[in-house]
Amino acid sequence: MAAAQEQREAERRDQERPAHLAWLSDGSAQITWHDAHESVFTPASLREQCPCATCQGTHGPPTTLVRQSRGGLPIVQTQRRREPSVQVKSASPVGSYAIRFVWGDGHDGGIYSFRYLRSICPCPVCEALRTPTKNAS
Ligand SMILES: [Zn+2]
Ligand SMILES: [Zn+2]
Repeated sequence: MAAAQEQREAERRDQERPAHLAWLSDGSAQITWHDAHESVFTPASLREQCPCATCQGTHGPPTTLVRQSRGGLPIVQTQRRREPSVQVKSASPVGSYAIRFVWGDGHDGGIYSFRYLRSICPCPVCEALRTPTKNAS
């Protein structure tokens, strides 16, 4: 394996290893990663992205209705799903690779691997990385 590739591997491992997990006063979970990156997840966003099979079945883009108004302008209505139960009752480690959250409504099926959590980091930096660069022509 080339040295540069090894270096990248090591960086990727650091990105998927939390150094610290803290709960903020508003109930959000703050994960500090080994590469010093910080992710703050609100309970709502975590529940929204629960990776368990049950929730994945109900996830999906919000329903979008497009109607034609009288003036010919399309009206876009976005219907969000019902607010999920967003209270975190407890969080416990699963091995050394994931966290299981137990929610206020008793739901506990979601095992959030650190790799997954890092991949859904809501910060602007990660958001920008996930968004394909637009051509500014
Ligand atoms: Zn779930
Ligand atoms: Zn981030």
